[in-house]
Amino acid sequence: MTHIQAQRLGSLLVLSGPSGAGKTTLYRLVLQRHPEIRFSVSCTTRAPRAQERAGVDYHFLSVPEFQARLAAGAFLEHAEVHGNWYGTLRAEVEGPVLDGVDVLLDIDVQGARQVRALSRGTPFAAAFLSVFCAPPSFAVLQQRLEARGTDSAAVIAGRLQRARTELTAWREYDAVVVNDRLEAAVAQLEAIVLAARCRTLIHEKEPWSR
Ligand code: ADP
Ligand code: 5GP
Repeated sequence: MTHIQAQRLGSLLVLSGPSGAGKTTLYRLVLQRHPEIRFSVSCTTRAPRAQERAGVDYHFLSVPEFQARLAAGAFLEHAEVHGNWYGTLRAEVEGPVLDGVDVLLDIDVQGARQVRALSRGTPFAAAFLSVFCAPPSFAVLQQRLEARGTDSAAVIAGRLQRARTELTAWREYDAVVVNDRLEAAVAQLEAIVLAARCRTLIHEKEPWSR
């Protein structure tokens, strides 16, 4: 009997949704259950929040440092969000996905559009799967941003204004998770990630032994 290794691409999982919808809370819980999934650590020029760790949550860069990486072609995508620069490093995504590792990106709607467009006609198109995380209502989104206590009233107002536009993009995504009851939303995101591994197109060979 010849054993054929189950060789597949990793899933390129893009998670977007308005600030305060609960993306960070959700993906942290899914990654706790699935340490085999890799989180793509983005670069940002915004200041770290109290609990955030450099190199784990983000690579915190100055604007000139960010520009230098951009000029060097290090970013798969980048965008200005809430007045700060954010970018996904190619190195966080491309190699791991080609090596069969599932990679999860928490990026905004503009970034998701760039990754979707760039993936077309490449092996990453088969690996790509996008998930939109929505709050149960706009009022709850506002409450969560206020309760999180990480942003000033002015910043929260800006994030809420932007959320109105971002929410209209939900149909561009392959899947939508409404984060009402946390456990239910975590179970949905986990189910999506697990099902994504069953997609035929990411398999290079038949995933069984003859
Ligand atoms: P995002 O990463 O989308 O900006 P966060 O994960 O920081 O959002 O969540 C925003 C706030 O809402 C946090 O204080 C978090 O603890 C809280 N939160 C997230 N999900 C839920 C939920 N299902 N029910 C109640 N509060 C939640
Ligand atoms: P926060 O400052 O709350 O961590 O993130 C603000 C927004 O920036 C969120 O919508 C998040 O998805 C987005 N974001 C984080 N990293 C990246 C990135 O690398 N690229 C893009 N385009 N958006 C990002």
